[in-house]
Amino acid sequence: MAKNKNCKEKKLAILTSGGDSSGMNACIRAAVRYAMGKGYEVYGVRHGYVGLINDDIFEMKYSSVSNCVHTGGTILRTGRTSEFKKPEVLQAAINNLTKRDIHNLIVIGGDGSFRGVEDIHQNSDVNVIGIPGTIDNDMGYTDYTIGFDTACNTVLDAMLKLRDTITSHDRIMILEVMGRACGDIALYTSVAGGAEYVILPEAPVDVDAIAASVKKGFDKGKTSTIIVLAEGRNDLKEELMEKVKASTGRTVNHIALSYIQRGGTPSMSDRVLASRMAVRAVELIECGQSGRAVGVRGGDLIDMNVIEALNYPKKFDNQLYEIAQKISK
Ligand code: ADP
Repeated sequence: MAKNKNCKEKKLAILTSGGDSSGMNACIRAAVRYAMGKGYEVYGVRHGYVGLINDDIFEMKYSSVSNCVHTGGTILRTGRTSEFKKPEVLQAAINNLTKRDIHNLIVIGGDGSFRGVEDIHQNSDVNVIGIPGTIDNDMGYTDYTIGFDTACNTVLDAMLKLRDTITSHDRIMILEVMGRACGDIALYTSVAGGAEYVILPEAPVDVDAIAASVKKGFDKGKTSTIIVLAEGRNDLKEELMEKVKASTGRTVNHIALSYIQRGGTPSMSDRVLASRMAVRAVELIECGQSGRAVGVRGGDLIDMNVIEALNYPKKFDNQLYEIAQKISK
């Protein structure tokens, strides 16, 4: 919602918070440059809300974002702190902005970071906008978050390499991918990478049936099998390894790609998405809007109330899951 405040101050701060994701720098770059073009003084906050609390705020120049569009991580660094939830800490952090006459803030991060957006929105006259930056793609109000596409491409690259070695040894690989409670990275990469099985938090799992099916596949002449296991179901890892080994009599390897999925040069899609979202965020700031989250739906940019965005249910793509099951094995 628009705040009834004097929007004459052309000062804007930007921070990245929570888990880093590839494309955050493209987002920072676009926001800095677009805002400068609109006449804003732009400030960077280091280490997310930690820097807001510690007054680690610096003025950015046009050149501060030179040569970063292709880089992973975040040039502003990121951080996590539970301190920000304390009302007195929140107020002190907000004061660090307002004492510089900064009344506009863009936060790039995931759902935890968006709760901070709402806290600032409710407790200050700072106009604050959230941009979804997380590899997990676990925010239901937006089709995609910045970093998801790059993380999937990293998984696909690993899958290709793993396929070479397991085919050479007639083995089975359980490839564990990130995503917290969301199975999107697992689902999309299993389809795009030709994995034989995918195990997700959103769908029922029958480990015995998978073990029997893997054996059948080898009996029919398969030379390798990849089972993509979403982080949200890694409780099944041991049982899966034991049962598949018992049914096939073959070596079962497990690899968790872990933080490798977070880094690396952002994909074209992530860079473009990040740049578009940054521009929308600056436009919202320009209109005096606050407490809004930028997203993308069906290819179009959207923005909505940040609390609505946080409460928006994440829809499981059942159709894609069915496709994964029909074209694999
Ligand atoms: P992400 O934003 O990627 O989901 P986290 O869930 O770790 O990552 O949240 C990032 C950070 O957001 C937290 O460590 C904390 O510093 C900050 N934050 C600010 N306000 C809140 C809040 N009300 N609830 C939770 N996290 C908050």
